[in-house]
Amino acid sequence: MAFRTAIAQTNYDSVFEPAAGGHPAKLTIRLKVALNPLDPAAPWVARPQNGQQPPTHIAANLAGVRKGVVVDYNGSPFSCRSWIGNEWNAFKIRFKQMVEVGWNNQILLLPTDDDQDHRLTDDEFRQLVFNPRYPAYVACAIDIELVAVGGTSHALIEVAHIDHSIRQNGKFRVWMNRITDESNEFATFHWQQWPDTTFRQITSAHEVGHWLRSLVSTHFEHIDAAYAATQPPAAQAHAQYGHTETLRSAMMGDGLVATDHESMPWLTRMVRHAHMSLGWTFMHRANFDTAMPEISARQRALFP
Ligand SMILES: [Zn+2]
Repeated sequence: MAFRTAIAQTNYDSVFEPAAGGHPAKLTIRLKVALNPLDPAAPWVARPQNGQQPPTHIAANLAGVRKGVVVDYNGSPFSCRSWIGNEWNAFKIRFKQMVEVGWNNQILLLPTDDDQDHRLTDDEFRQLVFNPRYPAYVACAIDIELVAVGGTSHALIEVAHIDHSIRQNGKFRVWMNRITDESNEFATFHWQQWPDTTFRQITSAHEVGHWLRSLVSTHFEHIDAAYAATQPPAAQAHAQYGHTETLRSAMMGDGLVATDHESMPWLTRMVRHAHMSLGWTFMHRANFDTAMPEISARQRALFP
């Protein structure tokens, strides 16, 4: 059987490309994102969205901006203003760049022979080898396709512009439905549990991660959601971002690193592109480069 080339679904689309011309095989998640330049002057509650279009406004210049209060995830009010045309265009370009930089070049999926009932055919296996001296793998990537608000999208994200001319009370806490003009920059976190560690994260990349959901869930979870559920209620919000330094450093924690958890959206798609229920294992690109796994007997037989 041949790999499926493209799968389009309501959570995200995906495209598989076989290895060719010295390029590895590639699985790209294509997420259609509608970024909504939020009008801070219009009354609007982000949750629930009720399928309604959030209010938008783009000003021609600073004199034309509207001002108002926008609340963050905690319900705390922040003074905001509307976007100016050139700022908005720059933000959209940088959003795509930073989300893709955050996720790409980390996740590799290596074929295994775990699924003996639905083994890759020799012809399929060959499509995963771009160079016989390297073990077969599929490189995973995300491609952000910015689409117009009001059209068909996988993700609708409001973007508030904080009024930086006004002193704000604390830090705006974003979530998957609402980010700010600061979300394409690196955020840093410090925690008493790890006094010597600074966790760094591209906020927009983390929030896009929440949109890489399964068809039956509203969002892709934080890395330690299952552990957090075993903790006292007051500790859960903090614990879901990771209770060990390694977990905390993950993209769906407070960091930038893709782990087994972050590979799930690609893994669940790859088994469908390949008509298998098992048969893939995650490896980080950095680990692959420093300690390359052995070339399998099957690959050696196919490429003598
Ligand atoms: Zn989150």
